[in-house]
Amino acid sequence: MTPSIIIIGGGAAGLMAGIAAARQGHPVTILEKKDRVGRKLAITGKGRCNVCNTAPMKEAIDHFFPSGKFLYQCFSRFYTPDLIALLEENQVRLKTERGGRMFPQSDKAADIIAALARSFTRLGGVIRTSVPVKALLIEDSFCRGVITQSGQEIRAAATILTTGGASYPATGSTGDGYRLAAMAGHTIVPIRPALVPVVTAGDLAKRLQGLALKNVQVTVWMDGKKTDSLFGEMLFTHFGVSGPIILSLSHAMVQGLGAGKDVQLTIDLKPALDHKQLDARLLRDMDTFGKKKTRTLLKGLLPASLIPVCLDELGFDPDVPAHQITSGMRKKLRNWLKEFRLDVTGHRPLREAIVTAGGIATKEIDPKTMRSKICSGLLCAGEVLDIQADTGGFNLMAAFSTGWMAGASAVNG
Ligand SMILES: Cc1cc2nc3c(=O)[nH]c(=O)nc-3n(C[C@H](O)[C@H](O)[C@H](O)COP(=O)(O)OP(=O)(O)OC[C@H]3O[C@@H](n4cnc5c(N)ncnc54)[C@H](O)[C@@H]3O)c2cc1C
Repeated sequence: MTPSIIIIGGGAAGLMAGIAAARQGHPVTILEKKDRVGRKLAITGKGRCNVCNTAPMKEAIDHFFPSGKFLYQCFSRFYTPDLIALLEENQVRLKTERGGRMFPQSDKAADIIAALARSFTRLGGVIRTSVPVKALLIEDSFCRGVITQSGQEIRAAATILTTGGASYPATGSTGDGYRLAAMAGHTIVPIRPALVPVVTAGDLAKRLQGLALKNVQVTVWMDGKKTDSLFGEMLFTHFGVSGPIILSLSHAMVQGLGAGKDVQLTIDLKPALDHKQLDARLLRDMDTFGKKKTRTLLKGLLPASLIPVCLDELGFDPDVPAHQITSGMRKKLRNWLKEFRLDVTGHRPLREAIVTAGGIATKEIDPKTMRSKICSGLLCAGEVLDIQADTGGFNLMAAFSTGWMAGASAVNG
């Protein structure tokens, strides 16, 4: 009889593992605890699903932490072109946006889920929803299947753990996989939020709530030392800051805060101009609009909601004519535009993080197969592993590639 495979969790990694395993002719069942598969996939990319990235493999690897090297073998076997082909086979075409981010042309994450589920079931795969797995069936250090919440024992030749992380728990990823893997003897690197908005001091962020800044350079400082810097888009919220570059910088900030460091962010609002060029621009504006009030002069430099904040922070009188701005004031303004400073006091909780950092220690997983080195018959893939990435479609790429590898090597290797 053909050996059967059980997959715990019908998310990105689980569905892909299912397709790869079913293609080899194995009877495969996905056990999903929610009432439908892919609930987290449905909210990715604000419902548009940034499904992958066009970056070459070597470049993509650099977007992962703690280290992307673990993914080389998986990416070599299943990478962006393979995903594009698989989705096209299932009538989903992709388009490329800024930074190599790929989305379905329909802008609907639901189309990705439907394509993956359809591909799996067409190959004979079975999806059982509302079936939470409670435990692994381990006999003599061999995983022989699972025990469901209702107490049903389901035996299989191989069991693939793809339960995701512990953020956005309403989607089904509540961290069960860490407990299940620990049962099998795996080390779990402590979990913490990654790609998470951060909280800033005072009411600055609240005053700017809703303001999105594009093309800014944000720099992270820890105990006064510059540690990281990214160019792109960010957003002010009622509690602090979020948006793509903040999320990507958050991993380091969470660690710094955890270590008791003094964490600050500076925003370069005019990254295209150095201090000298910006000074020349300010002088020119003051010359042209000398009779206008300072607040009017700032309209050419800043979004409307930032003007009162800028004036307050610098202690400028908004009604003073621009020609009365002294060279000292001009220097202050220039420095503020280049280094608008925010004190970071905390971060939002794990449940609000885009991904969970930490998880099953990758040194205990064979990167060539995704098999557990600790427990035979068990394979692990996706976010449950201690591997996370920046925004840009990289997290889903890791889930799909590790899922594919696990499914393809579950029985045959
Ligand atoms: C708001 C948001 C937006 C995001 N946007 C993007 C994006 O655009 N691009 C990108 O690359 N990444 C994005 N991510 C990250 C990405 O969604 C995840 O990294 C990815 O879904 C992980 O895939 P996975 O299969 O490992 O886990 P999941 O997709 O979380 O799937 C795990 C599945 O396992 C099931 N499960 C859990 N426990 C059990 C159990 N005990 N028994 C049975 N089933 C169980 C869950 O219900 C779930 O269906 C986003 C995340 C969030 C929260």
